[in-house]
Amino acid sequence: MANRTPLIAGNWKLNKTTAEAVALATEIKSGADAAGSDVDVLVSPVFTVLAAVAKALAGSKVFLAGQNMHSELSGAYTGEIAPTMLTDVGCSHVILGHSERRQYFGETDEGVAKKTKVALDNGLLPISCVGETLEEREGGKTMDVVGRQVDAILKAVSADEATKVVIAYEPVWAIGTGKVATPEQAQEVHAFVRKRVGDVHGPAVADAVRILYGGSVKPDNVKGLMALPDVDGALVGGASLKADSFLKLVHFDKQ
Ligand code: PEP
Repeated sequence: MANRTPLIAGNWKLNKTTAEAVALATEIKSGADAAGSDVDVLVSPVFTVLAAVAKALAGSKVFLAGQNMHSELSGAYTGEIAPTMLTDVGCSHVILGHSERRQYFGETDEGVAKKTKVALDNGLLPISCVGETLEEREGGKTMDVVGRQVDAILKAVSADEATKVVIAYEPVWAIGTGKVATPEQAQEVHAFVRKRVGDVHGPAVADAVRILYGGSVKPDNVKGLMALPDVDGALVGGASLKADSFLKLVHFDKQ
């Protein structure tokens, strides 16, 4: 890896009441702060507990992210949340275009690209997700699909802005299934994504952009994934819901 600080990000999805979320955040805070400054740590709880988790994390190194946002800042959009509302409660980041958002809520490449730009315009660092389904992989379409998704995001932002975007490569077939991509599969797509960043915004931006792997990352496979030259961190679902397993990922070098 070049000079890219690894990022270990926990996506809590639709889990945790306020008390449970605060308890988990409090445990993560003490374990993550012990990791020092050589790894960035982030948690992404549901909207309703963000303020309480922000309070629990105050003064720590753990970043806070929303799991989604709307591209408009206000108006008649029942059920939506604005980027400025996320920063208002203490979020520094936002996850965009997670495959579950694409699959169940109709999010499109264009919509994710627009949200990526709007997040940056409003002081949020986007973690924009891409990844192919099993059918697409088996049909030999992985690079076409990921290339299309990445291009949409890259074309919505300037070169300077692109350095602030975190791209998460999450093969859909590996999310929540226990099937992790092999190191060869992960590295192949990560290198492809980085090349694509270089094609659109130049080699310096390609070198700076962090590309996370997501899909059944666990304490027993994190070290191998993190050793890959183009893997700069992990976006984690299941293993982020318990402090013990998440902190093992944060301390991936000791696994
Ligand atoms: C995710 O939801 O982003 C994810 C990677 O989930 P899991 O780690 O459970 O596969």
